[in-house]
Amino acid sequence: MNLNRKPHRNPDLLIVGGGIVGLTVARAARARWPDSTVTLLEKEEDVGLHASGRNSGVLHAGFYYSADSLKARFSREGTRRWTELCLERGLGINRCGKLVVAQGPHELEGLAELKRRGDRNGVLLHEVTAQEAREIDPAAKTHERALFSPNTASVDPAEVTRALASDAREAGVEILFGTRALQRRGTALDTTAGLFQPGYLINAAGLYADRLARSYGFGEDLDILPFKGIYLYGDPQHRRPRVHIYPVPKLSRPWLGVHFTIGVQGEVKIGPTAIPAFWREHYKGLQNLSLWEAASILLTEAGLFLRNDFEFREIAMEEMRKYLRPVLARQGARLVDGTPMDSFRTWGKPGIRAQLFHRKERKMLMDFHLEGDDRSLHILNAVSPAFTCALPFAEFVLDEVEVKMGEGAGLREEPPDEAGSGHQDGPARGGMEPANARSRNRPSASTP
Ligand SMILES: Cc1cc2nc3c(=O)[nH]c(=O)nc-3n(C[C@H](O)[C@H](O)[C@H](O)COP(=O)(O)OP(=O)(O)OC[C@H]3O[C@@H](n4cnc5c(N)ncnc54)[C@H](O)[C@@H]3O)c2cc1C
Repeated sequence: MNLNRKPHRNPDLLIVGGGIVGLTVARAARARWPDSTVTLLEKEEDVGLHASGRNSGVLHAGFYYSADSLKARFSREGTRRWTELCLERGLGINRCGKLVVAQGPHELEGLAELKRRGDRNGVLLHEVTAQEAREIDPAAKTHERALFSPNTASVDPAEVTRALASDAREAGVEILFGTRALQRRGTALDTTAGLFQPGYLINAAGLYADRLARSYGFGEDLDILPFKGIYLYGDPQHRRPRVHIYPVPKLSRPWLGVHFTIGVQGEVKIGPTAIPAFWREHYKGLQNLSLWEAASILLTEAGLFLRNDFEFREIAMEEMRKYLRPVLARQGARLVDGTPMDSFRTWGKPGIRAQLFHRKERKMLMDFHLEGDDRSLHILNAVSPAFTCALPFAEFVLDEVEVKMGEGAGLREEPPDEAGSGHQDGPARGGMEPANARSRNRPSASTP
């Protein structure tokens, strides 16, 4: 928390969460509504300490996702915009491309489906023979064919997130660290630094977005389930492979399987896994343990295991084994030839996916999910590739805010201190024009 000056208690826009989603939305909001005050609350003492700074850093070209999804809609554009931004700003980027390889004849149809999806999404993707795949990267092992995506790149996600935070600050966003959003109190938001009375609230709280959403009356049947991704780094002297090498994923699951990722300095890692975690920030040992939270997540996971919803039993058994180094290394070995897998022995920083689960329908949601009204918008299921998508997705989020605000009558008339927050600033929302005052493409994706 910045103790040097008083925070805005009633900003026009209050954003919860200093990950890539909250930061890109905050920056875009100042650009769209230059007269508005925008405050961002982050419970940690820095940005990007959770998924945004702990992911693979791959800019996904956009061929995995069905054409009607938000993921498909924003990946290609997101990759293009991050690539431009990194090059312009001198941020690390490795434009090495990606091979998707088949482990047998049974995966050829999967490759063909990815190619169809890529074509539908307008993504540049080449079908190559096994020989051509080896010419692209001699380490690649595939059955008959592979796909090559030249535009897939990687960035250092922590570096990019910090750069976005400084952009947001320069654009006039007030970032308050060490400030945890607790719950809605009337029209105010209760936080560890007292009440805030925003004109509008955007919840980009990642692993905790469902909890905050629920206190606003949204996401009633939705829970975030944490899945842990761990990585193994190869010794620096064995820099193989040179391009990202991925398996054909099970498209019924929201993750892509253990793969080789090449970092911005050419470093190579395998992972990540999708191991059911027992609490939301369950990175290591008993770190960040909340007994209440662990009890509730364990109960949900036990139910999923017993009923075997969305093959959870198989996922849990398969994934848990990957805590063992030889098991994880063996997964990697299926995708490559001539790469000494025993050189992969350094564990990297794990990340946790905030995967949304629909309690009544007993299924995982595959796409980003937004819910809200004329007072607040809640971004749920900002799972991979939300990092890739973040720049165009932020514009979409603000379009949604405009649509929601346009739906509300008497939007600006509410007294700012209805919840007794004792505000010292002027009335909220002064700088935010209602949706129908602007001409923008309205989103076609359905958001409740
Ligand atoms: C292992 C792994 C690998 C991945 N690989 C890729 C990839 O290669 N490419 C890609 O595009 N995507 C990838 N992703 C997905 C990507 O990391 C996420 O989609 C993205 O980072 C989500 O950003 P976010 O801002 O929503 O969440 P976060 O980065 O988690 O940010 C949320 C922030 O909210 C804060 N917060 C939470 N609760 C509160 C509260 N109550 N009050 C105040 N602050 C709060 C948290 O401290 C956190 O800083 C991966 C994710 C994981 C876990």
